[in-house]
Amino acid sequence: MNRLITVSTTDSIFPEYRDTPIGLLLEYHNLNRPLDEYATAQLLIGMCMDNRKHLRIPDNFAFILRAGGANLRYSEFKVSYAIAVGGVKSIALIGHTHCGMVNLISKRDAFVQGLVESAGWNRERAEEHFMHFAPMFEIGNETGFVLSEAARLRLRYPKIQVAPLLYRVEDNLLCLIKEN
Ligand SMILES: [Zn+2]
Repeated sequence: MNRLITVSTTDSIFPEYRDTPIGLLLEYHNLNRPLDEYATAQLLIGMCMDNRKHLRIPDNFAFILRAGGANLRYSEFKVSYAIAVGGVKSIALIGHTHCGMVNLISKRDAFVQGLVESAGWNRERAEEHFMHFAPMFEIGNETGFVLSEAARLRLRYPKIQVAPLLYRVEDNLLCLIKEN
């Protein structure tokens, strides 16, 4: 089933996101909406650390937390801070195609070898490090993961709007994800 909706007009934005910071993010990035001026952040964006992604958004518009796979499980204090002190009421959770946090086990040898050669670790410690953390950072599947992470965040922060999105590195556009 193809869950991805390419946002190419304002009409394709889901009604629940129109006239919200989520809808604005989609308009700025995908639809070239002129950049407005902001004095305070409107949105928290959680996205992967991957270097292939760059968002077109106004200055001051968003807090951005970058973590492998858009996995915010280990950034909860910062999420809480952005809401409680920063005042944001929406979270855009942005996964992306070809994410390195999918099928981590296949990168085990490269990871260990890289730490040994580039960072000066001994092999045994590098192997332990990988085996300890890989299960925490594995996301399984990009779309499935942001859907489950969005569901988790909605339970954790019931008054906050959370939108799962996917960044397509092939054309640098954001897609909405159909839920259910
Ligand atoms: Zn990634």
